[in-house]
Amino acid sequence: MTDYLSDIEIAQKNEMTFIEEVGAKIGLDRQTLEFYGNYKGKIDVNQLKDKEEKAKVVLVTAITPTPAGEGKTTTVVGLGDGLNLIGKKAVIALREPSLGPVFGIKGGAAGGGYAQVVPMEDINLHFTGDFHAIGAANNLLAALLDNHIHQGNTLKIDVNRINWKRCVDMNDRQLRQIVCGLGARVNGVPREDGFEITVASEIMAILCLANDLNDLKTRLKQIIVAYDYENNPVTAGDLQAEGAMTALLKDAIKPNLVQTLENNPAIIHGGPFANIAHGCNSVIATKTAMKLGDYVVTEAGFGADLGAEKFLDIKCRQSGVRPSAVVVVATIRALKMHGGLGKGDLQTEDLTALEAGLPNLLKHVENMTDVYELPTVVALNKFPTDTDKEVALVTEKCAALGVKVILSDVWEKGGEGARDLAEEVVALAEQPSELKFAYEESDSIAEKIEKIVTKVYGGATVQFAPAARTMMAKLESLGFGNLPVCMAKTQYSLSDNPKLLGRPTDFTVEVSRMKVSAGAGFIVVYTGDVMTMPGLPKIPAANKIDVTEDGMITGLF
Ligand code: ADP
Ligand code: MG
Repeated sequence: MTDYLSDIEIAQKNEMTFIEEVGAKIGLDRQTLEFYGNYKGKIDVNQLKDKEEKAKVVLVTAITPTPAGEGKTTTVVGLGDGLNLIGKKAVIALREPSLGPVFGIKGGAAGGGYAQVVPMEDINLHFTGDFHAIGAANNLLAALLDNHIHQGNTLKIDVNRINWKRCVDMNDRQLRQIVCGLGARVNGVPREDGFEITVASEIMAILCLANDLNDLKTRLKQIIVAYDYENNPVTAGDLQAEGAMTALLKDAIKPNLVQTLENNPAIIHGGPFANIAHGCNSVIATKTAMKLGDYVVTEAGFGADLGAEKFLDIKCRQSGVRPSAVVVVATIRALKMHGGLGKGDLQTEDLTALEAGLPNLLKHVENMTDVYELPTVVALNKFPTDTDKEVALVTEKCAALGVKVILSDVWEKGGEGARDLAEEVVALAEQPSELKFAYEESDSIAEKIEKIVTKVYGGATVQFAPAARTMMAKLESLGFGNLPVCMAKTQYSLSDNPKLLGRPTDFTVEVSRMKVSAGAGFIVVYTGDVMTMPGLPKIPAANKIDVTEDGMITGLF
């Protein structure tokens, strides 16, 4: 593998075109595209109000993730370039990376190899400042809340029932649980608190689900920040926070335009967690891309049980977006891990383990075709270590079950490596389809969860802890029973046990608690512990990142 250039080296060797020219390819004039330097822009969606959302949407999702890596973002970028190569006007829509993973373990999130979005350094570091604005809006609300308590607490907020945390876009376990307001009376009311990473903030989810600035403000107003002494919700609206918060977000809500290595348009906007939130780029970005291209290629986080489920049951339900085709990304390496191999044994051919891991892929494909009834293809993301026999085995076994597998080699070849995949996606998108949801809004909260667990995860039953049952009844009595549910579950298994790889059956999912994200418009359902403030690993990726004398960034991956 030493012959290969790193992602950042490939990105820096590449020649970008000015953002003005990228915008011109999709009809954006000077009025509509606001420049942020030479290679980034924000789109003023008000100028596009009358344009029809006509493009076909292609959703890229994946098998259950393993440490071996799947390559959804890489596939989105490569497929977008591939579609443009075969003469289709394609725009990709992706999430913005968080600084947490950039400095932690995972690294950047701008694709890989010859399928990347650029300028990758900017996209991975600060970008156009959206996440900082989201953090500021989040922290303004926290400051207003504590100030209200300090100034006499006319809303009778119970300091033990505050559920609004401060946030920062950094992996910093030291802030997970804190005591604040210490010292003299003038320093506020002492209480236990904690920070979340910005991408876990409800503001991020709200920004990504809002249809426009007005909808954003309405949603911000509905955020429940605490409960009062009588256990009634206290909202951001009660604190008169929504106006100033919206003011802080007025530019962050505009989608960002950048380009792929092949100079095709890429809209990158918003980045909610895929566990306590819905894990895909903003509705505004998707809809803007739908106005500007004929095809939109977009990604849902984690595996299809989490990311695609939420993309379809939450984002599509709320926004009216309907995908025309789904691509499920799989890698031979990850399938071998699902078949029982350890991370160190993935370099050598192993047809037995590969075959044993296939049921994981098949379950995700079945979910797309049978639960959601969407035209679906498998993209096998080719790694340098894959052998011809392994590729043939996956293709044959899937074909026997009526599942089409297409080899995608975008990491090494860019758009050229996705010609076949692009042709197949175009053909699939021609097929008539009608998205079916996994559950109905009118189902009770428990029914919604049970339908996801049995239909999508392939489990047997759901067990509710007492705290979850109490909250479920409360949320229904408060009128939130019609909201979709947002499952916070491990991404490493179809079940709620990260150790159960492959395609587990007969398992019970245990729901420990739930809460409403009233502004985002969903009920978060916790299964097991979910980390909303990650920590850094022993050797953080940050240790390798540097800048040369003339401002060139190195070591980012
Ligand atoms: P995901 O979006 O599923 O999390 P990414 O597309 O971000 O995955 O890829 C994760 C990492 O794996 C990136 O560093 C990328 O460069 C690498 N990667 C992806 N596809 C390949 C491939 N075919 N060969 C080698 N490395 C790859
Ligand atoms: Mg990704």
